[in-house]
Amino acid sequence: MMILVTGGAGYIGSHTCIALLEAGHTVIVADNLCNSKVETIDKIKQITNREIIFYHIDVTDQTAVDTIFLNHSIDGIIHFAALKAVGESVEEPLNYYCNNIVGTLILAKACEKFGVKRFVFSSSATVYGENEVPFVETMKLQPTTNPYGETKAMSERILTDIAKVNQEFSVSILRYFNPVGAHESGLIGEVPNGIPSNLMPYVTQVAKGKIKHLRVFGDDYSTLDGTGIRDYIHVMDLAEGHVAALNKLKAGVHVYNLGTGEGTSVLELIKAFEKANGVEIPFEIVDRRQGDIAECYADVSKAKQELNWTVKRGLVEMCRDAWRFEKNYRASDMLIKH
Ligand code: NAD
Ligand code: UDP
Repeated sequence: MMILVTGGAGYIGSHTCIALLEAGHTVIVADNLCNSKVETIDKIKQITNREIIFYHIDVTDQTAVDTIFLNHSIDGIIHFAALKAVGESVEEPLNYYCNNIVGTLILAKACEKFGVKRFVFSSSATVYGENEVPFVETMKLQPTTNPYGETKAMSERILTDIAKVNQEFSVSILRYFNPVGAHESGLIGEVPNGIPSNLMPYVTQVAKGKIKHLRVFGDDYSTLDGTGIRDYIHVMDLAEGHVAALNKLKAGVHVYNLGTGEGTSVLELIKAFEKANGVEIPFEIVDRRQGDIAECYADVSKAKQELNWTVKRGLVEMCRDAWRFEKNYRASDMLIKH
């Protein structure tokens, strides 16, 4: 199939392009590069030895989006393009609503106009809020506490309403848990903007000595060791989940959790990283981070049954691949500067 991947130069999108190309699909990437670099497209080509068509466009620009559909016979869309920093979304709500909601609307309009039936949407476990774990797709969503989460819940709602009247529209809403790690080549991975706010990129920068120590946000949660529990998923497993979802698309809206189904605490993740990579991660316990929940992990039985998809990689691979990319990325970065 010919698949339009919006946000395909970004972290999850780039890994998904690899999985799509390896599964034999043709890939067109549309990205405005607001949080990524065009070099990533070349790295995808290098890894897969396949061509990729790249459009440097903003998905909120209807004319630019239409041009892609006029130029190519698109079979389906995977829509990653979005702004994703929770804290920033509180500071700049208008920017987040415009970018994330308008992007979804423009793409859905293009689907209607050009008769494209397949749509895979990047959602997030954040829409579950403080539900009981494990999170199941049928749970009533909790109002999120930030505009970013709202844009995901609203986009889900918009796509659901469209599919109610357009009987052929086939939508897969994928709720990601915590994607970490990198492609095993070490050529692409997560490049946070400034000081990372997520745990794994923070850990890799501490390992590198760029940051002195990790701050563990709270050890007084009612969890096994008192630190927060999350469901970390290797980004390549997540990428393969998109290929599975695309293959199994059917009319209507279908929601799937993409996680491992396993909860890991902050302290467990630190230990796993130290063991996998033979490095030490100094840390100190500090106060809880505002807005954090104690536990978040998925019930993955629906994705297993209906998509015939399950993760293949564990914490060791996540830690090893995240660290390999951090070392590689910084090394090539330094080479460029000199
Ligand atoms: P990312 O920032 O690395 O990738 C997003 C890409 O979209 C970037 O390349 C950016 O340049 C592009 N983009 C943003 N707005 C655009 C626009 N208007 N037009 C064109 N391109 C645009 O983020 P990611 O981690 O790869 O996330 C991908 C998707 O998954 C996002 O929708 C995000 O909300 C969702 N998600 C991410 C996580 C996570 O932890 N990384 C968790 C749950 C859901
Ligand atoms: N965390 C931490 N120190 C950090 C970053 C994160 O202790 O520097 C904790 C955080 O409180 C949470 C877990 O690590 O329990 C995962 O946080 P992340 O921001 O990666 O994901 P999210 O909270 O968005 O699920």
